[in-house]
Amino acid sequence: ATPTSIMAGSGRAAEFGILFKGGEHLETTHRIDTVVVDKTGTVTNGKPVLTDVRVANGADEEEFLSLIGAAEKQSEHPLAEAIVQGIQERGISLKAVQKFEAVPGYGVKTIVNQKEILVGTRKLMNQYQIDISKILPVMEELEANGKTAMLASIDGQYAGLIAVADTIKETSKKAIKRLQEMNIEVIMMTGDNQRTATAISKEVGINHVIAEVLPEGKAEQVKKLQAIGKKVAMVGDGINDAPALAVADIGMAIGTGTDVAMEAADITLIRGDLNSIADAIIMSRKTMRNIK
Ligand code: ADP
Ligand code: MG
Repeated sequence: ATPTSIMAGSGRAAEFGILFKGGEHLETTHRIDTVVVDKTGTVTNGKPVLTDVRVANGADEEEFLSLIGAAEKQSEHPLAEAIVQGIQERGISLKAVQKFEAVPGYGVKTIVNQKEILVGTRKLMNQYQIDISKILPVMEELEANGKTAMLASIDGQYAGLIAVADTIKETSKKAIKRLQEMNIEVIMMTGDNQRTATAISKEVGINHVIAEVLPEGKAEQVKKLQAIGKKVAMVGDGINDAPALAVADIGMAIGTGTDVAMEAADITLIRGDLNSIADAIIMSRKTMRNIK
């Protein structure tokens, strides 16, 4: 590879909002045969909105939301932000929090108003032996519609469900189709549950989904693909994605995402539009062809 052609290639890519950190990445990118995309903030806009609230029989919705809102107020998770915003928009004031603990990949564990409040996945509820059998069918229906549903308990009893919906980026479906037409396998990976993930992936034409991946598991999944000979590009925006971005053959960070992701990646996609993935690969192929 001549330095001149690499420089010309990098310059052209930059005009398209594709920033290569070094010339070697422009070379590696043309070998990519598998693209792993994160869901939230990568395929979707990453701005979830609170859509559904169900309280357990006999409970007061406002009281429930003031406790849940307080618990989530302490969390930095985008889901928590959506929940707090939705509750405050309903004009409900939040209770005071005595204790807060994030359970990464599962939810939060807090003490609010002398009550122990858990909010998160069905696995979190199972860990604390909370009986959620009655609400599961409702939860599954919300998930089948692509929503992320979370369960809450108060002092060891199931207390209610809240769900949020994220919107898919307008450009995602076409961008994924372009990759598939280039014979590149596209896989979606997320910490979210299987049903929600499958619903979203179907909307954008992705057939291969790896869901319910714990924060430390994303890098492991990339390594597994590499172990069977795949040349993997990982595309993500979150702190959770950083280890996977670093181990992938090429890490692509979404420019609207976290700094941590951009630091770990080899390429930053300024536009946040997934078309930049195919563009980067095509530019890399062209650069390599000029070299040979
Ligand atoms: P993602 O890859 O979508 O960012 P995470 O690994 O951060 O997923 O979280 C996985 C799941 O854990 C979420 O879909 C949600 O159900 C639950 N969860 C995480 N953080 C919270 C929170 N602050 N409140 C409620 N649920 C949460
Ligand atoms: Mg994300």
